[in-house]
Amino acid sequence: MAVLEVLQYPDPRLKQVSVPVTVFDGALHAFLNDLEDTMRAGPGSVGIAAPQVDCFLRIAIVDVSSKPGIPQHGCLRLINPEIVQRSGEVKGREGCMSVPDYTGSVIRAQSVRVRAQDSDGQRFEFDCEGYEARAVQHELDHLDGLLFLDRVVSPRHDLYRRKVKAVLSD
Ligand SMILES: [Zn+2]
Repeated sequence: MAVLEVLQYPDPRLKQVSVPVTVFDGALHAFLNDLEDTMRAGPGSVGIAAPQVDCFLRIAIVDVSSKPGIPQHGCLRLINPEIVQRSGEVKGREGCMSVPDYTGSVIRAQSVRVRAQDSDGQRFEFDCEGYEARAVQHELDHLDGLLFLDRVVSPRHDLYRRKVKAVLSD
């Protein structure tokens, strides 16, 4: 088990665009385990992306199974993920392990179809909605160097300073 250091806003590396994974080997599997350990070390975390730990590959993990009673797929390890279809719009609150001091309200698609590869390079596709879809869109943004702060419509009305650090991060 290894918990990696998480880059914190305003570290300029968080703006870097990540590149596709081309090698699906033991090193990738080990990195995925470390990335998942790092996500689980953050209280309330429901996702993490490789660039948050200073690795600029298109890799994200999403796991919203800790939230009861919502549609979800368990722990998703997404390599080279792409959103191929979106529908609906919904505003909701987000936090981020890289932005420990704030949460913000962001508009996201209500449901998305995702195409990705698994840790062995096998392609798969799935549909997700609601909170899980929000988490997926948040993590995929990290792969393009975007934070939820970049998507907040009105910083004055939609950003909230946390009273307690890292209560709910994704
Ligand atoms: Zn984040």
